[in-house]
Amino acid sequence: MSLIELSSIERVFGDGDGRTVALEDINLEIERGEFVAIVGASGSGKSTLMNIIGLLDSPSKGKYKFERSDVAKHSDREQAKIRRKKIGFVFQSFNLLQRHTAIENVMLPMVYARVDRFGREKAAAELLRRVGLEDRVYHYPNELSGGQMQRVAVARALANKPMLILADEPTGNLDSASGQKVLTLLEELHADGNTIVVVSHDDAVTDYAKRVITLKDGTIESDKKKPSKKAKTKEESSAKSKSSSKSKTKKKTSTKAKTKKKSSKSSKKSKKDSKPTSKTTKKTKSSKKKDASKKTKSSKKKDDK
Ligand code: ADP
Ligand code: MG
Repeated sequence: MSLIELSSIERVFGDGDGRTVALEDINLEIERGEFVAIVGASGSGKSTLMNIIGLLDSPSKGKYKFERSDVAKHSDREQAKIRRKKIGFVFQSFNLLQRHTAIENVMLPMVYARVDRFGREKAAAELLRRVGLEDRVYHYPNELSGGQMQRVAVARALANKPMLILADEPTGNLDSASGQKVLTLLEELHADGNTIVVVSHDDAVTDYAKRVITLKDGTIESDKKKPSKKAKTKEESSAKSKSSSKSKTKKKTSTKAKTKKKSSKSSKKSKKDSKPTSKTTKKTKSSKKKDASKKTKSSKKKDDK
């Protein structure tokens, strides 16, 4: 079922000489349970689109349906209620309250949702455990690293069990290792059934998302879905079994071929790693596993071009 439906959306700022068309003719549907990345150059309209999706801003023209209901027909109050109950936000600058501990920051949205103190504490502690910060519960933001602050922000975004998580440049202020951790966390939340939309100009995010929408000058330049994991695993396994059946007959040649393959793969990888956005340091077990599948993904991407 469509969670988000944007039809002919336009967003114009200012008028006269200062008139900026930030979004133009945006048509977009996002289903429940998708993991979407919105990418594009700075100024292409990503945040404007995100703010409209998150009911933080209204389009100048066009229709936005959230859960099949026309957002424009809701009062400001009703929109605020939808935001509070159904949408969790993660921002580039974390936006944590500095004078409050990690757990207090996570509990805050639950205060507005009128959860009692005991319930809040229990849920917030559980969420901090979920994002791997069980040993930082009573730390203040200035006692945390950027990556840890962003994980507190993710926990806070999850406080009211939203159906949609919106993240605008969540890795923008993080080093690549911490950025990977946050993206892995979003990936896990997606696997738990959450709908996730991430805005980024960081290439790494496209390795995690299952659908990549590219904006250019306020319009959708491309919208690409990746093959589902299931199909990919099948492909991979049939490729594997083919090569293993070959190996039974021509053992020597296949070993050579394998080594050749390996070296061509690693040369591809090193090419990728030479990019400024490369991921290098401290990889977790799951991200290592991911790398294996990423290689095929990225080589696939190259083939597509
Ligand atoms: P991105 O997030 O992709 O960097 P934005 O959505 O922030 O891009 O901005 C898209 C365009 O809209 C830019 O040209 C920007 O200057 C303009 N813009 C965004 N917000 C405003 C605003 N509040 N007032 C005027 N212009 C704006
Ligand atoms: Mg932006």
